[in-house]
Amino acid sequence: MTEPDLKPSNFLRQIIERDLAEGTYAQRHFGGSPGDAAHHAAGPRDPAKIRTRFPPEPNGYLHIGHAKSICLNFGLARDYSGVCHLRFDDTNPEKEEQEYVDAILDAVKWLGYEWKGNSTSHLYQASNYFDFMYRAAEALVTADLAYVDEQSAEAMRAHRGDFGKPGTNSPYRSRTTAENLARLREMRDGKLADGAAVLRAKIDMASPNINLRDPALYRIKRATHHHTGDAWCIYPMYTYAHPIEDALENITHSICTLEFEDQRPFYDWLLDHLCTLGLLAQPRPHQYEFARLNLTYIVTSKRKLRQLVDEGHVDGWDDPRMPTIVGLRRRGYTAASLRLLAERSGASKAGGWIDYSSLDIALRDDLDPQAPRACVVLDPLKLKLTNFADVFGSDGFQEPCHAPVHPAKPELGKREFMLTNEVWIEREDFMEVPSKGFFRLTPPRVDAAGVAQPGSKARLKYGVVVECTGFEKDADGVVTAVLATVVPDTKSGTPGSDAVKVKGVITWVSVSTGAAIEVRLYDRLFSEAQPEAGGRDFLTVLNPNSKKKISAFAEASLLYASAAAHFQFERHGYFVADRVEHAAGKPVFNRTATLKDVWAK
Ligand code: ATP
Ligand code: MG
Repeated sequence: MTEPDLKPSNFLRQIIERDLAEGTYAQRHFGGSPGDAAHHAAGPRDPAKIRTRFPPEPNGYLHIGHAKSICLNFGLARDYSGVCHLRFDDTNPEKEEQEYVDAILDAVKWLGYEWKGNSTSHLYQASNYFDFMYRAAEALVTADLAYVDEQSAEAMRAHRGDFGKPGTNSPYRSRTTAENLARLREMRDGKLADGAAVLRAKIDMASPNINLRDPALYRIKRATHHHTGDAWCIYPMYTYAHPIEDALENITHSICTLEFEDQRPFYDWLLDHLCTLGLLAQPRPHQYEFARLNLTYIVTSKRKLRQLVDEGHVDGWDDPRMPTIVGLRRRGYTAASLRLLAERSGASKAGGWIDYSSLDIALRDDLDPQAPRACVVLDPLKLKLTNFADVFGSDGFQEPCHAPVHPAKPELGKREFMLTNEVWIEREDFMEVPSKGFFRLTPPRVDAAGVAQPGSKARLKYGVVVECTGFEKDADGVVTAVLATVVPDTKSGTPGSDAVKVKGVITWVSVSTGAAIEVRLYDRLFSEAQPEAGGRDFLTVLNPNSKKKISAFAEASLLYASAAAHFQFERHGYFVADRVEHAAGKPVFNRTATLKDVWAK
């Protein structure tokens, strides 16, 4: 198992270390904010050794794949004396909302990162670069590197060719630069209808890389942008905007997922030309691609997550079954566990699937050494201690019992709860006829060989040893209570308490002093490891039993647990007080993950 703070080397680290050793970016200047070549040249030497960025489009809630990208980009910047920018890639006027912007800021902060470096905030918005992007477009047109194409969409598609077939030049490709410039200005000024023309790079219609066959740079779209309003009726294409955003911000290592690999030649073409034209600072950023994080039993696509929410398959973006950061957080996964998963999954060029259990393993590794323990009974069956009054004086007596808050951290002290004449135990801790190897509670009986067997003895954890004497059943044959007697002088922590040896230890909660709690048991949202394998509709493999609400009992202190507090419920796993619905006096807990199978046997 990898240690939490061990950072496995990956190819990105090697590239950064090479650049640092060679001083690739050592001479850069930084104008204190994003800007063109002149702006940066006027500033001092860039105090950041490297600059990375996390560039979400604010069109949905972030998911665990984004968490990976956040950890990677912010983590590399931290490790190599750099800074990581948080940039809203809001160049697409549609589908973007403030709600998502706020949620993204919150998610990055919660994951433990900040976008400040060298006392500057590096929170940026790509829509602030629209002026520069347009200026660069005019410069490309003037340099005969771009042209306005007025072919119909179908004609453009037909001229593009395909994998085996080179494209052919548009009839508009040979217009003069003056004509192109005039047309581009008409596009900008709203003189052309939506879709009537596009600005295209003039590269090579026969390139084997289809992305270099004169890609579109600008389109006409009358849409109100959430920041720039109606200032623009032309918007840059993502492939044009993204490299420019990186360059304006002095990014050194622009890290993205593998699907952008084929875009890299255009990224390089564009930035090289804009640098040569003197518009952008050098040395320019470079793009590096890594394989996206795929976890089994979830889907990670904002579009599909939205479908789950919109169609009511889950209770919202923060439903604890959702792989969104808000969902994972509400479920009880800690920021440290997500960082651990990101670290352990490394960064490589080879894609692949990581088993969902890796996330649970990371959670246990984070919480086991620190989460306070608590006793709860999830499937309650009443245990009546029939000689309680004889041993403790009266049936109303409360005998205080003590347990460590954390078994490995005595400095955290002890928790106290009461033993009373009736306690809740787990239904599975009683067997009328024991199976082989069952060491918990069984009544006196005559076995198959006709031999009378006494009732079993077991220890109520942190309490006393009890001996099972019988049980009660209702008319349907369902066991409604177990009867037992307290074995005197066996109270945990008192001298001689372990003189009576027992093999079974049982968790319990006092009936009269315990707290009623609501517990939500979550399971995988999909019943197939790869919900979309073979082109399957992921909605057809939703797990119908992914959420179960139960009424349970807990030691009294949980009544006042604070919201979002994490616990290990002894024997059951890791649970968190629900961030949204838990309240003092009305406790609601979510199961984050089960324990490793420590109780089996
Ligand atoms: P989605 O497909 O879910 O909508 P996206 O890539 O369109 O995701 P963006 O907001 O554009 O979403 O992504 C922001 C950053 O997060 C990008 O750099 C993207 O490459 C990265 N990212 C998205 N999904 C993953 C993933 N599964 N693993 C690693 N990085 C990811
Ligand atoms: Mg995207």
